[in-house]
Amino acid sequence: MTDPSGPDGARKPLIAGNWKMNHDHFTAIQYTQKLSYLLDTHDYELVDVVLCPPFTDLRSMQTTLESDKIPIALGAQNCYYEKEGAFTGEVSPVMLAKLNVSYVIVGHSERRRHFGETDDVVNRKVRAVIANGMTPIACVGETLEEREAGGTDAKVSSQVVNAFDGVKKAEIAGAVVAYEPIWAIGTGRNATPDDAETTIAVIRAALAQRFDPATAEAVRIQYGGSAKPGNAAELMARPGIDGLLVGGASLDPEEFGRIIRYGSS
Ligand code: PEP
Repeated sequence: MTDPSGPDGARKPLIAGNWKMNHDHFTAIQYTQKLSYLLDTHDYELVDVVLCPPFTDLRSMQTTLESDKIPIALGAQNCYYEKEGAFTGEVSPVMLAKLNVSYVIVGHSERRRHFGETDDVVNRKVRAVIANGMTPIACVGETLEEREAGGTDAKVSSQVVNAFDGVKKAEIAGAVVAYEPIWAIGTGRNATPDDAETTIAVIRAALAQRFDPATAEAVRIQYGGSAKPGNAAELMARPGIDGLLVGGASLDPEEFGRIIRYGSS
């Protein structure tokens, strides 16, 4: 798994781009090179950067990142939990690890909604990702109806505890959680920094209660939901928000680069 701490021992910010079903392997290479020209060593010292392209782009991007020595980590948007077998259309975590994929997004709300992923499936995937030496980015978040009914805390707490059921404390400590309120994804409507900070504290408390405070303190918890250059700095300024999972605004390398450089004005 990846190391969650920066040089000072604190949790290092992690900014990940989730391209969803966008960019073929040709545009992926151009994108990767362009983003790498926009970033410098100092940026990578401050922030861990991850790109999560579609499966078909992974090999081309791996080659580009490794041959050009670009310190951007590769992530996948999903995987299956079995290592091989008669599972037509699925991609195994073993295959991803072979491509030097470091992170795998698990339980994104679009997977839960469109592909029926349950907490149990998410948990199997989290465990498979960890077993293959990669870091899960486990997504949790409430619907608008749940929020309006006052159910946010219960929903995210149960999702995060279920996601890591049966996982060793030391492995959870290296993992990543993304708090993604479903009503904020792709809508242009982000959670306020106050709301994001509050719910992320709830997630951390749920991990502390189920596992222990030290484990919970080590987990990097990102915010996701219409993050963009204009709101990245104020979100990242909040204690407990350790990074961003960015969808739409990661599709353009200049826009994503501005999010990664949220700290430089
Ligand atoms: C996402 O897909 O994880 C996401 C947060 O999307 P967007 O930034 O477009 O809301």
